Amino acid sequence: MAPIFQKKQISIFPLNNAPSYNLPIHGQRNVFVDSSFVFSVGDSTDSYVIISAFDIRNGELVSRKAIRRFTPKGQNIDVVDNKLYILQADQQKIMEETPGKNGFETTRAWNLNPEVAIVKDQSRDFFAMKGPSFFIVPSDMKQAEANGVAGNTAWNFHALSNKVNFKVYPFYNRSPEEIARQEKQARDRKAYIDRKNAERDSIEHPERYCYKFWNTPKWKRGLTIYWAHAYYIMAEYDCKADKYKLWRPRQPYNGNGAEMPAQYVMVSGTEFRAEDYSTKKRYYTCTECGGDGTYDVTVYTTTIKDLPWGYFSGIETKKFTTTSQTIKNICKVCKGNGVALK
Ligand SMILES: [Zn+2]
Repeated sequence: MAPIFQKKQISIFPLNNAPSYNLPIHGQRNVFVDSSFVFSVGDSTDSYVIISAFDIRNGELVSRKAIRRFTPKGQNIDVVDNKLYILQADQQKIMEETPGKNGFETTRAWNLNPEVAIVKDQSRDFFAMKGPSFFIVPSDMKQAEANGVAGNTAWNFHALSNKVNFKVYPFYNRSPEEIARQEKQARDRKAYIDRKNAERDSIEHPERYCYKFWNTPKWKRGLTIYWAHAYYIMAEYDCKADKYKLWRPRQPYNGNGAEMPAQYVMVSGTEFRAEDYSTKKRYYTCTECGGDGTYDVTVYTTTIKDLPWGYFSGIETKKFTTTSQTIKNICKVCKGNGVALK
């Protein structure tokens, strides 16, 4: 994978008052600074890494080379004495790369001392020191503990004589209690991070969590709540917008000012859910009107009209006309809301 920020630069400020300069090495896998060169190691493909050496005085590129990488965990790199050392663990080999006018030159190579066991898939730290000698340290504690001597030993050996100077075994030496305690800590930490991520996700993507926020004992249609100093009924939930629709029925007229009609309020879900609005009072379906609130009533009106005498040969003197009219009748108990607070 190519580094994302490969085009960015880092700035070098030499201590000898020489002008500062930029190197295009931001985002590289490793950057080493020695007395003559700045080395950078960047991934170019999965199978190769590009090593570069820049003149430390002016930032000019001196050498560049592609180095074969066999497996992602099989390679480590370090710098000492202006030389770059590459541990190719898959090949049990260390190469010395020296920057020169004609590019990097492989000046020396060693086979690892056969005593130095490197377990495949074990990640490790690799340190090159004057001599040169090399220190190879297992860095994955679990892998190390699982692989016995071969996985859990740190080695220091001298390259020219290929002799092991010293080894450290076991490099990781935890008691079963420590292992249990540390694993519990890791689990707790993971649970905490998972919880935080879920919280953030629920704010950024409420639609994924709808099932948690509606039709639950706490949030559902018809529930009476006490919110913002008044009683409301939960009416609807808009999942996509994460908003609750609250209904405040028309309030009984207290004789002052204007009568308050029914109101609907949309409230933001995250904000709303932060507190508890449960109340002992409840809106019940009105027993008077059975919840109809406003109902239609047909009223019949009959009018009688006197007809002028003698208009029709004296048989009929009055005309009866019946008309019907449907009017809205509002329940007096619930004021037409169909619900009453008790
Ligand atoms: Zn009613």
